[in-house]
Amino acid sequence: MPPLSPARGRATPETVRDLVVGWRRHLHRNPELSFHEERTARFVADTLADAFAGVDGCEITHPTATSVVARVVGPHPGPVLAMRADIDALPIHEANTHDFVSGTPGTMHACGHDGHTAMLLGAARVIAARRDTLHGEVRFIFQHAEELPPGGAEELVNAGVLDGVDMVIGAHLWLQLPVGKVGVKSGPLMAANDTFRISILGAGGHGAIPQQTIDSIVIAAQVVTNLQHVVSRNVDPLEPAVITIGRIAGGTTSNVIPGSVELEGTMRMLTPELRTRIPELMERVVAGITSAHGARYTFEIDPGYRPVVNDSGAAELVRRAVIASVGADALVEATPTMAAEDFSAYQQRAPGAFFFVGARNEERGIVHPHHHSCFDLDERALDVGTRVFVQAAMEMLTEKDGRG
Ligand SMILES: [Zn+2]
Ligand SMILES: [Zn+2]
Repeated sequence: MPPLSPARGRATPETVRDLVVGWRRHLHRNPELSFHEERTARFVADTLADAFAGVDGCEITHPTATSVVARVVGPHPGPVLAMRADIDALPIHEANTHDFVSGTPGTMHACGHDGHTAMLLGAARVIAARRDTLHGEVRFIFQHAEELPPGGAEELVNAGVLDGVDMVIGAHLWLQLPVGKVGVKSGPLMAANDTFRISILGAGGHGAIPQQTIDSIVIAAQVVTNLQHVVSRNVDPLEPAVITIGRIAGGTTSNVIPGSVELEGTMRMLTPELRTRIPELMERVVAGITSAHGARYTFEIDPGYRPVVNDSGAAELVRRAVIASVGADALVEATPTMAAEDFSAYQQRAPGAFFFVGARNEERGIVHPHHHSCFDLDERALDVGTRVFVQAAMEMLTEKDGRG
């Protein structure tokens, strides 16, 4: 257990900075997979309990087995601002050699969620120390299982953690952005990630007698190429969309035409409209090609996360917080990505903004992408993220008119 600060009552972003780094390293050393974050949740709850000791209006709950939600309710009425960190790690074997590498072989914080958890713990400590100034409530959501659909966010929303919330914000430490920068954007930011499975059902037979078969391999080849027409010919070129077939399986040997072929892939898009439209277009292609050759098909979709689409008011709150706490130079327009995030589940219930906290450092070789076995963070990013969370609460809950 890393040290806790005795100077709780005067906690500021400066005084919690080293604690936050220590917490991140502790979490990094002790990663846990999605839906199995038992020790992590206990650490979060213990650290919050220490920060909240002697402060009125604070509460810590466990809405699910491995998640933690805390509330800091100010003495004056006002809006409710929720802040979310995800706490889970990945099934990756760490290749780093620093002195806080994962102590669990095959499991690693390779997405930065250790940092998210530490930053939000730091923000909670500072905000609790300023509780007397709050008009309203800050709710801290430590969410399990971001990395494994159906994800923890949906479960927490269904458990009511967003009931009464007026606005929700969340951050991702981001290796595409240099440390010191914060990327904010209104509108679409991250993609939906639905999985599809297609079976081409033909009729197998001898490789030398194709006329007695319905060749599922030849039909599947046409399906693969024609599905790319959906993106290149049916979708507006100014709207990002991806269809990737990541697995194709059929046949057993060189001289047998197999009866069926399976295709599996992922599709990504940034708007709910395309999320409905693209599968319709895909199925039209699959149906047309298979029927033209006398074959049949099945087409299934395994829904992933919704697209992350930021509310302009929530994005503006984050921008103001960045400028006030880190400086105008730090603020950049975030570049959308086709990666996915279940933060989108919260945005169904309350206006929300997800933002990127730069953690890249070329000179120190901190450049590996998320989910890489050498993934690392420039830990100065943790201070930036903590400050933005604290300042967002101050902007929203300490002004006379509440929302600002
Ligand atoms: Zn990830
Ligand atoms: Zn992540």
